Amino acid sequence: MKSPVTVALVGNPNAGATSLFNALTGAQSAVANYQRVTTSLSTREISHRGVSLRIVDVPGIFSTSSQSPEEKIGCDYLHGEEPDVIVNVLDAGHLDRSLFLTTQLIETGLPRITVLNMIDEVRRAGIRIDTAMLASALGSPVVETCALKKEGIEALLDAVVGVVSAPPVTPLRLHYDSHLEAAIDRVQQHMAELHPQELSPVRSRWLATKLLEGDDEILRHESNHVELVDEIRGEQSTLAHEHDEDAATLLASARFAFSNGLLREVRQQTEDPTAGFKLTRILDDVFLNRSLGLPLLLGILWVMFEATFSLGAIPTDWIKAGVQLATDLVDKTLPEGMFHDLVINGVMAGVGGTIVFLPNIVILFFFMAVLSGTGYLARASFLMDRVMHHFGLHGTTLIPMVAGFGCNVPAVMATSVITNKRARLIAMLISPFMSCSARLPVFILFAGAFFSNIAGTVVFAMYMASIGTAMLSAVLLNRIIPGSGSDAFVMELPPYRLPTMHSVLHHMWDSAQGFVAKVTGVILVGSVVIWFLQEFPRNIVYSQDFETAITEMESRADSPAKDEALRSLKATQAQEKLEKSYLGRSAIAVTPLFEPLGFSWRESASIMTGFVAKEVVVATYAVIYAQEKQSDGLTAALRGAMPPATAVAFMIFTLLYAPCLSTIAIIAREARSWRWAGFSVAYSLTFAWILALAVSKIGQHLL
Ligand code: GDP
Ligand code: MG
Repeated sequence: MKSPVTVALVGNPNAGATSLFNALTGAQSAVANYQRVTTSLSTREISHRGVSLRIVDVPGIFSTSSQSPEEKIGCDYLHGEEPDVIVNVLDAGHLDRSLFLTTQLIETGLPRITVLNMIDEVRRAGIRIDTAMLASALGSPVVETCALKKEGIEALLDAVVGVVSAPPVTPLRLHYDSHLEAAIDRVQQHMAELHPQELSPVRSRWLATKLLEGDDEILRHESNHVELVDEIRGEQSTLAHEHDEDAATLLASARFAFSNGLLREVRQQTEDPTAGFKLTRILDDVFLNRSLGLPLLLGILWVMFEATFSLGAIPTDWIKAGVQLATDLVDKTLPEGMFHDLVINGVMAGVGGTIVFLPNIVILFFFMAVLSGTGYLARASFLMDRVMHHFGLHGTTLIPMVAGFGCNVPAVMATSVITNKRARLIAMLISPFMSCSARLPVFILFAGAFFSNIAGTVVFAMYMASIGTAMLSAVLLNRIIPGSGSDAFVMELPPYRLPTMHSVLHHMWDSAQGFVAKVTGVILVGSVVIWFLQEFPRNIVYSQDFETAITEMESRADSPAKDEALRSLKATQAQEKLEKSYLGRSAIAVTPLFEPLGFSWRESASIMTGFVAKEVVVATYAVIYAQEKQSDGLTAALRGAMPPATAVAFMIFTLLYAPCLSTIAIIAREARSWRWAGFSVAYSLTFAWILALAVSKIGQHLL
């Protein structure tokens, strides 16, 4: 152990650092309830439990990169020296302000102790602070003190000695959005080249963050590295372009989000909402209200899905008409034959049957963009987190939830911010239950076909089922998976903002592009493959001689009865051909598995193809029904094919069963084990099967 150990008292001006310094060392430095009293470093050595400590009273600062002359000494100290321990003195009555500095001190990666000073005032105001929670969220011991009455001084000294004699721990890390993280990474690499050996990873991350933030002091240090400075300017302008905000603001709001979220968790009573971000606090009092919060969330989500369904219907009709037009045109121009059938019944049916959902997807993403841009989505996670607390789970597992509504792949990747391995695994395993946008077409198709009056509500219900299953799974997995612990985690609550037009349009455009890419990629290929599978083999032995029967029927005199008989003959023939095709045969082989759920081989076929990507489920249906010549459309065909209870069971099954191939692959990669990926498949299949069975049994009685 180093001797003496340097212990720096760092806090906002007026937080009580000097009073604490005096209490710790018995010194008589000037204390005043005025901000700029300590203007130079005072140092005194003491000894506690045989450890000699060099206590430094650092003049108060609000931020580690403050430009004001009063804060210069404090900032310079932190930049120039590396104390062994930082004692972060907080004014416990004004945690909002104090925690901002804390977030920056976390980034220095130095061992810290968090001191809640002026705890007397807090107690007097009837505010309770959950120190255990605070300690794990900040990654440091927390000590309550009243410097004035010299309370908590022994505990503080014990904590200091504890930290210096404990083995070093991995420091906590705040995480920023992906662009920012990527930029930090690049700057760090550049710095590593410039200063080999000198920098620890934590220190270099801190410096990189500071450089991006535009810290003049550190920039001056690096001013002879022209390339680095240029790179930083470049990164800053890219970030500004991507976010409509400069890097410093981005960092500041990420830090605010962290401390705001943390406060909502650890403090029992909110304090006077006058300082900063007032609107945010007022809105949070409404949206995060213990009794109003959840109903409001449900209401907002309901409106979102209702609009996704009903607003989407209008442009969907145009696209449908367009697809019909194109199909007719191709039908006329292409000569009869296999290629004609492949294009019409394979490509046009599959691609056309899926592309019609483009408006719904874009509208959903519009809402998602608005909700996340305003900061409401973070509140949604917070509210769900609160529910999870009842099951002894902390919110870490919910991180991927929001990302999961778009696509499960980024949701699984988002779990990388969770440091506790077990908590991360649980989060990964539940993310496939979040209903990604690939499932939306299935819901819209089925809800529209079977429950046209309340279709929006049905889609909403499916999403609720998705969230509910994910949460239930988290609780179950928490019991099943051995080991313990999910680290305390702060649900970040960023300030409310009006989303920029730019970012909303960007989201919608992205989602539209992504969907079109899927349709012209995996769905196109899938439709062609499915068409071939249902077309071959060709040498089918029919149960009766359809050709003769049809020719015989056609020779009869025209009558409605004749038309009907012809139609039915052809349909039976088509169905038999399908059932004896490769697609039909393989689907029929697995159908016994799904029979208890009421699924026919068509559902089995869709389920199997959906393993590749869930978007293919609808395409499969479209191709199968196109073949059966159900000319009155997929919707009507579906309605005739199964009772509503089975339709709901199918929606539930599609929602929950095995993640698509890309998600399985990403789980294997992120969990570094194919076994967990396999587990995820087996687990979700079981879950889907049981729930679908329950739904179809209950549904039979209700619907
Ligand atoms: P510094 O600027 O961080 O060095 O803060 P000071 O030590 O100068 O203290 C600022 C003001 O807070 C002074 O009026 C102190 O008397 C008061 N103070 C410090 N610690 C406490 C405490 O634990 N409780 C209360 N009630 N007041 C305190
Ligand atoms: Mg002072």
